[in-house]
Amino acid sequence: PYSLGPAITGYDERRAQWLRDNRRFPAFVAPGRPRVLVVTGSSPRRCSDPAGDHLLLRAFKNKVDYCRVHGFDIFYSTAVLDPEMSGFWSKLPLLRTAMLAHPETEFLWWVDSDVIFTDMLFEPPWDRYSAHNIVLPGTEEQVYVVKSWMAINAGSFLIRNCQWSLDLLDAWARMGPRGPVRHKYGELIAQALSDRQPYEACDQSALVYLLVTDRARWGDKTFLESSYCLNGFWADIVDRYEEMRRSPTVPEPGRQQWPLVTHFVGCKPCGGDDATYDGARCRRGMDRALNFGDDQILKLYGFEHQSLNTTAVWRVRNDTGGPLDADDVELGRLLHPTAFRA
Ligand code: UDP
Ligand code: MN
Repeated sequence: PYSLGPAITGYDERRAQWLRDNRRFPAFVAPGRPRVLVVTGSSPRRCSDPAGDHLLLRAFKNKVDYCRVHGFDIFYSTAVLDPEMSGFWSKLPLLRTAMLAHPETEFLWWVDSDVIFTDMLFEPPWDRYSAHNIVLPGTEEQVYVVKSWMAINAGSFLIRNCQWSLDLLDAWARMGPRGPVRHKYGELIAQALSDRQPYEACDQSALVYLLVTDRARWGDKTFLESSYCLNGFWADIVDRYEEMRRSPTVPEPGRQQWPLVTHFVGCKPCGGDDATYDGARCRRGMDRALNFGDDQILKLYGFEHQSLNTTAVWRVRNDTGGPLDADDVELGRLLHPTAFRA
């Protein structure tokens, strides 16, 4: 069968040895704080929609902003590393490659290009995942009882750098080679799941298929997260930002204040022809999500958008002649997140 590369064994021991030999690059940058690499990307080709590449730029800026605040690294790929793993499958060889090149990384966080961070300060509760190797947005009920291919979302998930994850990527990728194999698995997946037609396998349905058909192998180390929006469906969110801002929940450690992620599932901003939603509605939603996330960053610098529907910004903090006099602890922590670094 298809494989992402040579079989790797004893990886956990090899990585442990590497970490012992390279103590300047610890996998945990502080107690309970794993070193995190956000991995994302988009097609090598320019977007056919005239607005598409501008949206991709802003979506990337949003991710860079989020990563800077949290001290995460980020990798953006515009290469399809294996032609067999085209389209949404391209994240698999990319994750494997990034994992092996960065033994210092403890968690990789895949985010689709159309994922926008909309709670710039919230960070996943890492300690909750210490016994798990992959964290997927979803619920047990939807995966194991309903067996829905939308039980999880493959647009935003965490995966640990370890042998188990390499094995998972291998098993997962076997269903992905384009052409007859991908189609054959589409049929098998349709039989095993409750709500999917037998068209070619996608990475998301294939992952649910693995969990449903081999829970004994994969279930234990898979964390299904639904206590915050590791993935959030845009259509339920984008019209509510003002309302959320007017009645903010009390920020608590470990609690998202706004949806962590707004994911533009079904929008295909880059001129895809299989868009499910009205393009203008998607565009408006994206502008609003991007501005909502950006406002949280701009505020650190004393600015804000005049509304979520415009590019215009204004000052929200007085420009003074004694710029360093104000001793705003919270602001300082966000602008200089030293505690996050090794
Ligand atoms: N992707 C990529 N290179 C490609 C195609 C897709 O990196 O050639 C990534 C991109 O981040 C995209 C994700 O894979 O968001 C999922 O692909 P899909 O076709 O589902 O796109 P979406 O609906 O998320 O735009
Ligand atoms: Mn997506």
